[in-house]
Amino acid sequence: MYLLRCIECGEEYETDSLYTCTKCGGLLEVIVDLSNADFRLDGNNITLWKYRSLIPVKTDPVTLFEGGTPLYSLKTGKSSRVYIKHEGLNPSGSFKDRGMTVGITKALELKKRSVMCASTGNTSASMAMYAARASLKAYVILPSGKVALGKLTQAMMHGARVIAIKGNFDAALKIVRKLTERNEIYLLNSINPFRLEGQKTIAYEIVDQLGYVPDAVFVPIGNAGNISAIYKGFRELKEAGYTDNIPEMVGVQAEGADPVYKAFVQNKDEIEPVSNPETIATAIRIGNPVNAKKALQAIYDSGGRVLRVTDSEIVEAQKFLAKQGVGVEPASASSLAGFLKEELDYDTVVCIATGNLLKDPEEIIRVCEKPMEVSANPEIIEKLL
Ligand SMILES: *Cc1c(COP(=O)(O)O)cnc(C)c1O
Ligand SMILES: [Zn+2]
Repeated sequence: MYLLRCIECGEEYETDSLYTCTKCGGLLEVIVDLSNADFRLDGNNITLWKYRSLIPVKTDPVTLFEGGTPLYSLKTGKSSRVYIKHEGLNPSGSFKDRGMTVGITKALELKKRSVMCASTGNTSASMAMYAARASLKAYVILPSGKVALGKLTQAMMHGARVIAIKGNFDAALKIVRKLTERNEIYLLNSINPFRLEGQKTIAYEIVDQLGYVPDAVFVPIGNAGNISAIYKGFRELKEAGYTDNIPEMVGVQAEGADPVYKAFVQNKDEIEPVSNPETIATAIRIGNPVNAKKALQAIYDSGGRVLRVTDSEIVEAQKFLAKQGVGVEPASASSLAGFLKEELDYDTVVCIATGNLLKDPEEIIRVCEKPMEVSANPEIIEKLL
């Protein structure tokens, strides 16, 4: 039905319980049987599980009705048709839910009792929510003081055991990889290839909603799983005969956390980690992205590129989206910030907005004008209008 294949040495495995290649340590990719595809890309009834025939699960999924997120057109003043896919409207408020519905289902199939992740915030929020739904114990390792309030509160409320470390995301992930080695606790970071099998449905949905393949898809890059997953989705649609082409995959990184950007401009297929990543966009504040090799392959194979934006360009794009009714957190606006910054000639562009505005209220308080406080007097208030 499906197997795992190493992206480095090509070794194949008929097991679900590996995160990386036991021969060479390379990243694994799930190879699904594309002849099983039984859905139509007709724009109807779009939810993640519409595409179940190409999602490698064996049991009924743990679902909170993720996917089916809106694709909004945007006015940008440029000649391209521009759409934004609002992944912030998933159940926990980010695209991570697409990975978690599959990952948590896999945890149950493998008879695990507990799950664990390192997180800049959204992975933990999503994992906590889906683990609660599946009655699994959830452990979350976070960089202390660097997780946006909306995300932390979700993890807490849904009952995860939250542990904050003095260290960044990269340090947290290292710890989680160590603690999940013995296979009792299931690892749910995006190094887990099944997470990406949920996230690839972003590509399926884009074609389902537009009715065609866009010229380019802009994606924020943090740990680099999502851009790899979306590329895989487009590749599968082409190989399964649904489409004829693949869009250019355009990754966007923040200036203070830009290892994939640097590798791209030097035409390399591996990154040099950035040791002290820093950006207002905490969801992409990652210096050593584990899926960088997959992402760079996706970018080169699709003829895409990597762009780099400043924090102020991110905030500008966040406000630009808000003015058109699309509320997102900072990292989510980096995709559009990249598009707005460059003169790129595309007919149709889709930017992925990865997470919801409510995730990071503290950032919004910092960048927006404060509400005025006045006495409860209609005449005074009328003068202010
Ligand atoms: C996780 C996340 C990202 C980064 O995605 P990767 O797959 O780690 O590259 C970007 N934006 C938001 C809001 C996220 O939660
Ligand atoms: Zn290998």
